[in-house]
Amino acid sequence: MVQQIHLASRPQGWPTPANFSLVEVELPKLGADEVQVKNLFMSVDPYMRGRMNDVKGYVPPFQVGQALDGAAVGEVVASSSPNVKVGDVVTSQLGWRDQFVTDAGNVKVVDKNVTPTAYLGVLGVNGLTAWAGLRLVDVKAGDRVFISAAAGATGIIAGQLAKLRGCHVVGSAGSAAKVKMLTEELGFDAAFNYKDGELVKQLKQAAPEGIDVYFDNVGGDHLEAAIAAMRLFGRIIACGAISGYNDATPQPGPRNLSHMIGKRLTMKGFIVIDSFPHMNDFLAEIGPLFAQGQIKAKETVVEGLAQAPHAFLDLLRGGNTGKMIVKLA
Ligand code: NDP
Repeated sequence: MVQQIHLASRPQGWPTPANFSLVEVELPKLGADEVQVKNLFMSVDPYMRGRMNDVKGYVPPFQVGQALDGAAVGEVVASSSPNVKVGDVVTSQLGWRDQFVTDAGNVKVVDKNVTPTAYLGVLGVNGLTAWAGLRLVDVKAGDRVFISAAAGATGIIAGQLAKLRGCHVVGSAGSAAKVKMLTEELGFDAAFNYKDGELVKQLKQAAPEGIDVYFDNVGGDHLEAAIAAMRLFGRIIACGAISGYNDATPQPGPRNLSHMIGKRLTMKGFIVIDSFPHMNDFLAEIGPLFAQGQIKAKETVVEGLAQAPHAFLDLLRGGNTGKMIVKLA
């Protein structure tokens, strides 16, 4: 028998542990061209909150009574495929379970010499999101860049990458320890704790000359403050809006949206899926930077499949520094 986390019920507002259940299931026998994988680590991600609602989005909603899914990295323990060997380390979208059997085409063999959790963060979707987001607003040397949720999985990579591009980088995060990490370990020029006081004021203090680019992971009041701080011809890359993911009714838009006109601002939304064709370009740049320590990964690791729902709930409340990961084996 193997274990999986199922969606027990759909949340109204903030999810709770009662929305999840740990279920034992029989593992199917290995068929032709299939692999059996023991998951080592899985990812929990903010977008999974949207999938708990019964709403069709860019990825299908989770189904009540069925296993959740998401990014994972594991080790192949049995294989009938000529392309995947026992002992290979593979990534998949079959997280939230300790083992699984699937078509060999549903897993991707990765380099065993790289720390496996990197494939869930810096060398995975978060790294690609940061890389693609900066690219979509043509970030260049000299830009003044503001990043929200800067101490999270995407934010830390976006910030370090923007620094390597020659930008002046400011971040916001939800604790003094996160702010310290951004400025003292990750090279941010300035950072502040958005819980310490009025956002507009704090951003003005951290970026007195204003900002050219806002990498928006948060939406809501952060977006409004960023619009207030934007310089002429500024660009906003709308990556996420986590401040509203658990709202039962949607937040109103920024009250100062009309400033977009006078300041000639551009705001662009994106979904990382559209950048998957650029994965090789991304890895060609970020892989060596990560290996040489020029881009650092940060992780918060929670142990055990049974703790995965708690890791997810904690992520939504800022309990993570860097990538939130669950260790499964
Ligand atoms: P993170 O690792 O950044 O974790 C989420 C962080 O959000 C928390 O650590 C918390 O940090 C912060 N947060 C939570 N609530 C609030 C709030 N009300 N105000 C400000 N900050 C808050 O997650 P990811 O890096 O995976 O995702 C970051 C954002 O990027 C999310 O919005 C996500 O949906 C989005 N995303 C978008 C993608 C795309 O394709 N467009 C792909 C991947 C992610 P703190 O302690 O600082 O509050």
